[in-house]
Amino acid sequence: MVQAPTLTDAHREVQALAREFAAAEIAPHAAEWNARHEVPVDVLRKLGEIGLMGIAIPEEHGGSGLDHTSVCLAMEEISAADTGVSTAVAVQNGLAAAPIVNNGTDAQKARFLPGIASAETIGAYALTEPEAGSDAASLRTTATADGRGGWVLNGAKQWITNGGIADVFVLFARTGGPGAKGVSAFVTPAARGLVPGAELGKLGLHSSSTVGLTLEDLSLGEDALLGGEGQGLRIALETLDAGRITIAAQACGIARAAIDLAVSYASERQAFGGPIARFQGVQFPLAEMSARLDAARLLMLHGARLKDAGEPHGVAGAKAKLVASRVAVEAADVAVQTLGGYGYSAEFAAERLYRDAKITELYEGTSEIQRMVIARALFGDAARG
Ligand SMILES: Cc1cc2nc3c(=O)[nH]c(=O)nc-3n(C[C@H](O)[C@H](O)[C@H](O)COP(=O)(O)OP(=O)(O)OC[C@H]3O[C@@H](n4cnc5c(N)ncnc54)[C@H](O)[C@@H]3O)c2cc1C
Repeated sequence: MVQAPTLTDAHREVQALAREFAAAEIAPHAAEWNARHEVPVDVLRKLGEIGLMGIAIPEEHGGSGLDHTSVCLAMEEISAADTGVSTAVAVQNGLAAAPIVNNGTDAQKARFLPGIASAETIGAYALTEPEAGSDAASLRTTATADGRGGWVLNGAKQWITNGGIADVFVLFARTGGPGAKGVSAFVTPAARGLVPGAELGKLGLHSSSTVGLTLEDLSLGEDALLGGEGQGLRIALETLDAGRITIAAQACGIARAAIDLAVSYASERQAFGGPIARFQGVQFPLAEMSARLDAARLLMLHGARLKDAGEPHGVAGAKAKLVASRVAVEAADVAVQTLGGYGYSAEFAAERLYRDAKITELYEGTSEIQRMVIARALFGDAARG
């Protein structure tokens, strides 16, 4: 049964902290950062100072020691202010931190987690390659034993969030034969041989860094291996299982911002002798989106509750992301339509939300991949053909 967690005082505090920070430090500047394609690294560091970059990192490693529900509540608030910043927050709290928290040695945790939690170091997670996205098990980057216990990595990564500003990289490369079992995970600081490319041009998310990485004879010690040889794909996928719940929260933030903007605009905008809010043609799409946002948020919180209870959450996360990302895309569309010509103008956030929303249907597994995860749970082996 789908069930949201009962929110504790700690949950409400982290939600309020994120909401206040987003209102004061993010929302007023989001339009400008996006117009200038500027990644506000100083704001990311401030988020670290107030404990929002290592929300679920244990306190002994410098984090806030909270749970995944807290990550998601904070995520919705930050995303409602700026999707690009929230993407950096998602990677820092989840994709970069979680593999180390869950699989790192004591030495790796001590070395990397305090900097990630404080955002003195920015993290990146490099799984995708130019020829391997949804089919991550086919990745081609190689890690060859150097004969001294270490590894030499060669290959290319694509679409790496935070890649242009990162100090710590979780990387996936092939140490064995073909397929999932040949993949291992590594964690390394920025190093010679790990070369970020130029910022990639993209539809939205203009306040987020996204680059390709070239790995040219990147030499790593044996202490860089994360979780044991051949464990890479398991680590990558378990990280994404939780990450998808976080992206559902991001999508809820986008949808909420879109609905709030459209309601407030429609209440003021005059046409045919009164506010356009009096027309059912304007009201109903927003009423519909409001109901679907509540449903998406419940799915998201349900997934977070399962994760926090230590229960399987992969399918719940896939459902939450599938539903919430569609709600974000459609709510942003409704917002543009409600604002009419002004919806198309850079003067209002509707057009930015419209461009940003689409990413939630693509990264951390496309909507087709979420359907595949759900279908496999429904059909079992019969779904694999
Ligand atoms: C802005 C941005 C930031 C990103 N950040 C990161 C990051 O930080 N780290 C990282 O590792 N990656 C990152 N990604 C990569 C992202 O996760 C991938 O783009 C995504 O997983 C899809 O992979 P692909 O682009 O190779 O598409 P493909 O896998 O080539 O898919 C193309 C199309 O085919 C469909 N398809 C593929 N296989 C199937 C199937 N079996 N059944 C049905 N349909 C299928 C897909 O759904 C999609 O519609 C980012 C991407 C973007 C755009």
